[in-house]
Amino acid sequence: MSNYKNFIEQIIEDDLNKGYKRDELCFRFPPEPNGYLHIGHVKAITLNFELGKKYNAPVNLRFDDTNPVKENTHFVEEIKNNIKWLGYEWSKICYASDYFEQLYKWAHYLILNDKAYIDSQASEEIASQKGTPTSPGTNSPFRNRPKEESIRIFTEMREGKHIEGSHVLRAKIKMDSQNMLMRDPVMYRILFKDHHRTGSKWCIYPMYDWAHGESDYIEQISHSLCTLEFKPHRDLYEWFLHQLPKENKNLPKQREFARLNMSYTIMSKRKLSLLIENKIVSSWDDPRMPTISGMRKRGYPSKSLINFVKKAGIAKRENIIDFSLLEFYVREELNKICPRVMVVTDAIKLVIINYPDGKYESLEAINNPEDESQGKREIIFSKHLYIEREDFRETANRKFFRLTIGKEVRLKNAYIIKAENCIKNEKGEVIEVHCTYDPKSKSGSNSEESKRKVKGTIHWVDINSSIDVKINEFDRLFLNEKPEESHDLLNSINSVSKKLIVGKSEQFISSFKKGAKVQFQRKGYYIVDNNQNGSMSFNKTVGLRDGWKK
Ligand code: ATP
Ligand code: MG
Repeated sequence: MSNYKNFIEQIIEDDLNKGYKRDELCFRFPPEPNGYLHIGHVKAITLNFELGKKYNAPVNLRFDDTNPVKENTHFVEEIKNNIKWLGYEWSKICYASDYFEQLYKWAHYLILNDKAYIDSQASEEIASQKGTPTSPGTNSPFRNRPKEESIRIFTEMREGKHIEGSHVLRAKIKMDSQNMLMRDPVMYRILFKDHHRTGSKWCIYPMYDWAHGESDYIEQISHSLCTLEFKPHRDLYEWFLHQLPKENKNLPKQREFARLNMSYTIMSKRKLSLLIENKIVSSWDDPRMPTISGMRKRGYPSKSLINFVKKAGIAKRENIIDFSLLEFYVREELNKICPRVMVVTDAIKLVIINYPDGKYESLEAINNPEDESQGKREIIFSKHLYIEREDFRETANRKFFRLTIGKEVRLKNAYIIKAENCIKNEKGEVIEVHCTYDPKSKSGSNSEESKRKVKGTIHWVDINSSIDVKINEFDRLFLNEKPEESHDLLNSINSVSKKLIVGKSEQFISSFKKGAKVQFQRKGYYIVDNNQNGSMSFNKTVGLRDGWKK
């Protein structure tokens, strides 16, 4: 492990030097189960779980489930699956909703200490008294209501005796604070809505700011790490902690780091759900989504996501990271693990006129030059093959290293061929190329002929034994480099971000199961989306940068 310490690690080291005990360190990842996790969350997950590893400290997975309107158990389960898939293990699963009773008791305590009161104004009125960043707010007429009255109403609220919107519990802080969040923020509201865990037990729910820090305290989180937009919340986080009954326990420390932003990508869950509602994508796990589940379905290995967010680093200032950096890490990982196969997507026929009719030959190919343990496979060779349309030109300039009439190329894993002529349809399009092959030039045969230098190598598939495949190809969802800043998000959508194409593959492919990752040589990396009843479909993960350039 390197000695470099990011600023969060430096804060922790400072605390340890000042007397904080190592075994008091504890971290958490605190998602709200109101959507799927995205690549930004991977940064927060990696930060917390790697700190846990580094300091041998527990890391809790805590669901901040304080808003029953948007939360459900499906999101809880998917979040758990995502974290496991990334390879991290939490120490405990916790739920803010498990602390509702404790939070309620503490709220009572605050009222009794004149630190909270029931406001019986409508939410619009409360909002209109908030003031602005440059002008102070106005005290509510209920601010000084007797605490006995606040206690009575608060108790009745819990018992369901008041309708939604009739009362809220507010912290009593400072209506002329510079920090607008400190202007008597709401702590509880009435909500007659079933909760995914507590069912109909509660009809008042704590606000995020009240529940979050207190949950950290209950779990004795030492360092509560969150993104920069929570910086102004830090005063409130600390104020709430200081109002709790003194228990001689550590108070957690909130510290903020820059969120991950990526070009051509949005990360707000609210905006991501807009894409689903407007049927721009099929679901949260659509392979075009920046969600962990979407990227998994797209074929991104978990390790590449982690390598990427580690490279992006932990900083105090926001920036935008180029999407291509993520693709770099995806390729790097896939190059190591993927077996190679030959697939032709825009096929034309190649006939080898000097190859015997009806003869079939089994050739040998290396599955992965990066990983010898993946072994070799057989590929069938015959007189009738498919090649890629773009790999043939009747005539071409010297920069075209593929097949042209009178010139030689190597068929990958097979022989050197020379194009002799071609057949066209009535539109003038080439439909068949006729060539001759050099029987002595077989790949790997050690003959003089097999070592002959030719300018290019192209891939091919035997027609008779070929397997049909369907391929989903994806492009970026947004045309705009910073869609998050766009005023009209739906207008910056790329209308052709998904395309279905078909291809012909060598037989080897049929053994791959759903989820298997593979390289189509000279094309890119793909993942099996389906292999059922003789029908195979793939998602394209990412293209190869340069194929076989030489
Ligand atoms: P979103 O804005 O996407 O809805 P959120 O902050 O509301 O995200 P939470 O479920 O509350 O979603 O996030 C859990 C944790 O992940 C929080 O600590 C949050 O700070 C962190 N997080 C969210 N987005 C990012 C991001 N883009 N980069 C790094 N961390 C993030
Ligand atoms: Mg949040």
